[in-house]
Amino acid sequence: MADRRASAPPALRPLYEVPVVATDLYEAIADCPMCNLARTRTQTVPGSGPLPCDLMFIGEGPGQREDELGLPFVGRSGQFLDELLASIGRSRTDVYVTNVVKCRPPGNRDPEPNEMAACRAYLDQQLELAQPKVVATLGRFSMARWFPGERISDIHGRERAVDGVTVIPMYHPAAALRNGSLRAVMMQDFARITALLGEAS
Ligand code: SF4
Repeated sequence: MADRRASAPPALRPLYEVPVVATDLYEAIADCPMCNLARTRTQTVPGSGPLPCDLMFIGEGPGQREDELGLPFVGRSGQFLDELLASIGRSRTDVYVTNVVKCRPPGNRDPEPNEMAACRAYLDQQLELAQPKVVATLGRFSMARWFPGERISDIHGRERAVDGVTVIPMYHPAAALRNGSLRAVMMQDFARITALLGEAS
């Protein structure tokens, strides 16, 4: 962990703080051999932010920069996520961020069903430790956990209460980098989070 932190830009170093309650979990993830992605990763990317935490974001899988640094959402998508968070008065150090799979799919391909299934228990534990009031899914793979078979273009920005948690599906920030018109859509969907946190408190 110390090596990863030393190679990261100073602004990212606070994101390496491991919540005390997640120490064992992060160690288990670091050594995880449970799917093929273990063979191609540089390192695992367990998550960042405090636990427990009122607001949790779940993306798809680490990209190249995330794989290099061991942190989620630190590439271009991460910069846009930071902008979106700033728009609602939050920052990366006060939200919990993770992905459906904790190791990079080679070439940034989609995670495969068997890989998501193998990694699911870790996400279950993170949800348990976070006890979030609001979960925002980023992209269709994390969305499918709560809204299987639905289309993100139909349901983004519209929350539902599922198993005692408010879940709001959002586009993945990378989609807005590919399609600029989604930037405003994501800003609008993010604005809903503030109201949801207020309603949940
Ligand atoms: S993606 Fe998840 S299940 Fe697969 S090796 Fe990495 S930590 Fe283990």
